[in-house]
Amino acid sequence: MKLAVLGTGYVGLVSGVCLAAKGHDVTCVDIRHEVVELLNAGQPHVHERGLPELLQEVIAAGRFRATGDLDAALMGSRIVLVAVGTPSEQGRIDLRFIEEAARQIGERLQGRREFLSIVLKSTVIPGTTDTFVRGVVERFSGRTLGDFGLGMNPEFLREGNAVEDFMTPDRIVFGYEDEPTKEALEELYQPWNCTKLAVNTRTAEMIKYANNSLLATQISAVNEIANLASALGGVDVMDVMRGVHLDKRWNPIQPDGSRAQPQILTYLVPGCGFGGSCFPKDVQALRSQGEAAGLSMDLLGAVLAVNEAQPGQVVALLRRQWGALVGRRVLVLGLAFKPDTDDVRESPSRRIVGDLLDGGAAVVAHDPVAMPNARRAWPELAASYVDAWVPELAAADAIVVLTCWPEYRDLLKPAIGESLRGKVIVDARRFFQPAEFAASIYLAIGFSPLR
Ligand code: NAD
Repeated sequence: MKLAVLGTGYVGLVSGVCLAAKGHDVTCVDIRHEVVELLNAGQPHVHERGLPELLQEVIAAGRFRATGDLDAALMGSRIVLVAVGTPSEQGRIDLRFIEEAARQIGERLQGRREFLSIVLKSTVIPGTTDTFVRGVVERFSGRTLGDFGLGMNPEFLREGNAVEDFMTPDRIVFGYEDEPTKEALEELYQPWNCTKLAVNTRTAEMIKYANNSLLATQISAVNEIANLASALGGVDVMDVMRGVHLDKRWNPIQPDGSRAQPQILTYLVPGCGFGGSCFPKDVQALRSQGEAAGLSMDLLGAVLAVNEAQPGQVVALLRRQWGALVGRRVLVLGLAFKPDTDDVRESPSRRIVGDLLDGGAAVVAHDPVAMPNARRAWPELAASYVDAWVPELAAADAIVVLTCWPEYRDLLKPAIGESLRGKVIVDARRFFQPAEFAASIYLAIGFSPLR
């Protein structure tokens, strides 16, 4: 099938490349010329495992190209997937990119003879596709739904695992407003053999939000328990969670007696809070929608409040240890909101680095892949970014690990471990065992000795 993808960020690019890899003919459109050029040269502008190889493969096969020309991309296309950003504006969803995309597509429907299904991949609050998008497209095309198709196909990929998640999904949700769009989506995803759920577009929209809100709720719940463990002392929340993880409702016992180890367990671990381009803004958007509908949305409000305060726990650990931060030198390891991505959007690292600087500490920061994005996104932060973190250990008073990049496990190498003697280690992600830093001062979320 020939299709266009409008918006070539993390979601649009991964979707476009993976659909091309499954045999479709894909044209990705973006307003950023530098992105278009890089992609046509076979270089993804985002960091995702397996993406460079797959991009080069589909370009070589003639099934993928990028352009800034929407007319060319729509020519002959049966579907246009819309994957533009839907940022948060004071806690509410900002639909200006969706509106612009709908307008551009609507204008191009005037005089078009072939049927086109407009399918949102962007995350939008329930009711957006069948009211807002439909209205904009109808206004700018002079056509009515039925002359064109409308669908909503939420994306569940996780940054860092995006290619794998797209290629082997746990489910595919088709939201549709008309039969031809449902049929087109079935054809598009025919190469995938997984559960496919066909619903109306507002149900598809809500599935995405419900999913993210429930996952975010687990994270905040564990963080609240972790903070209580810290306050009490003598309890390590990791031991508490080990006990919780043995509940067969979280972690079923297999016929052979082993445990299933479902991925939900990775959300039931304490840390310095969730970030990224999805959880914070999606939970906020759903809460705002509920409030606008007259509901108090207390639970989601609490999930956000716990998360907002959680980065502060990291700096509080250092203040408890030192009193003032003035004159201290802190090496921050990890700026991306999680490993395997260069995305720093809503990363707790930003708050933590800012609080350290505000407290008077000198901050040296490192990330294996996210430093260019951090420099661009946080120009106000006077941290010095370094390409190599090991040489910084000697001068640092504290090493604060904020992202579980595997290379930070090198802290445990005997040659390095010796240089950490007496220094403060802050483990904000519970990446290490307390005993691994017996010669250092080990501080962590959800862990404090009995006072
Ligand atoms: P992004 O900001 O990385 O990419 C959006 C792209 O759209 C940018 O490259 C931008 O230049 C382009 N764009 C904007 N307006 C355009 C237009 N009119 N024409 C052509 N290009 C245009 O965003 P993202 O992270 O890929 O997210 C996209 C959507 O998918 C959001 O709604 C997000 O919530 C959702 N989502 C994201 C993830 C994720 O992990 N990033 C996962 C699932 C869903």
